[in-house]
Amino acid sequence: SSVLSQRVQRIKPSPTLAVTARAAELRAAGHDVIGLGAGEPDFDTPEHIKKAAIEAISNGKTKYTPVGGTPELKQAVINKFKRDNGLDYSADQILVSCGGKQSFFNLALAMLNAGDEVIIPAPYWVSYPDMVLVANGTPVVLETSTATDLKITAQQLEAAITPKTKLLVLNSPSNPSGKAYTKAEFAALAEVLRKHPQIYIATDDMYEHILWTDEGFNNIVTVAPDLYERTFVLNGVSKAYSMTGWRIGYAAGPADVIKAMSKIQSQSTSNPASISQAAAVAALNGDQSCVGEMVVAFKQRHDYVVEALNALPGVSCLPSDGTFYAFPDFSGVIAALDGVDNDIQLGEYLLEKAGVALVPGSAFGTPGHMRLSYATGLDTLKAAIERISKAIQ
Ligand code: PLP
Repeated sequence: SSVLSQRVQRIKPSPTLAVTARAAELRAAGHDVIGLGAGEPDFDTPEHIKKAAIEAISNGKTKYTPVGGTPELKQAVINKFKRDNGLDYSADQILVSCGGKQSFFNLALAMLNAGDEVIIPAPYWVSYPDMVLVANGTPVVLETSTATDLKITAQQLEAAITPKTKLLVLNSPSNPSGKAYTKAEFAALAEVLRKHPQIYIATDDMYEHILWTDEGFNNIVTVAPDLYERTFVLNGVSKAYSMTGWRIGYAAGPADVIKAMSKIQSQSTSNPASISQAAAVAALNGDQSCVGEMVVAFKQRHDYVVEALNALPGVSCLPSDGTFYAFPDFSGVIAALDGVDNDIQLGEYLLEKAGVALVPGSAFGTPGHMRLSYATGLDTLKAAIERISKAIQ
């Protein structure tokens, strides 16, 4: 028998972090590697946000805070939900955590018992199934195809629901597909959920602001306000304000579960870093123009990357609605290349032959695809596409 718990043996290390680490390793060994694996904006954290953190240090805001966040930050989160989403929350419905990742982790641990099913549409953010497994729950993955823009349909949701279904996870716009659900699509999903009042919904809005659809941002509860009592809205400052290293995420939802999540956090990390919280207050309350500037750059790169990928033989890429990811279908390339039978082998092949790091679609539950992060400059992206092009011809 192993010294390790069954819990830890159920899960795998984050594959996106693994690809990033492998690319860094090769680079350190002198190889010329372009890393398009990482899920973080390439921009520096805006100056006014950094300044708020420096002031927090100078002013002695360097001590424990309440577990679920300072009153100032909770208020900033409440104001953000009102301003951006028209959603009303009180302080006992908000929990600030060490990144969006911990928000979902707390939620899984606070809600799930052995055998509870969590519906997760694929392609999914790599961590959802593993966090559900850590919490003893059962991930129920719904596969999608490009025919439905890599989104689940209402019929698919209906068919997947069982008496054990406890939670549905939605992430729009999606990491890795870049696709966002339309209002009509959310309304159709809501129609199904109304028939199953025992199901809770987690909407992960981490990429809310990195979006260029005409409809603008929506989630399940902005479209179907009657689901408010059973929806958790997860969000954070990591992507919108280029603050991945600061580790601040937040959750809003029913007070009883938020309180339980806070209890779990109180016995694990306690409060998120006090200095990061001060920075997050500045991010949420401050001038929002920094967000728009980054989005303009992401959209420009998106347009280039999608067109360039579609020009490659055997590659087909849907345009994204937002995020900084493209999720092209490489199955034509996999079929054509000798010695490459799947996307994982293609990832290794591209790393070795092209010196480009992409994350295989299998990591997100959608084999045959590769995720390319365009959170890097246009020149680098052009060089990467050129290298991929050469390596696959
Ligand atoms: N949710 C999604 C969809 C993400 O892509 C990420 C980060 O990659 C997170 C949550 C977690 O972000 P954080 O860095 O705040 O933990």
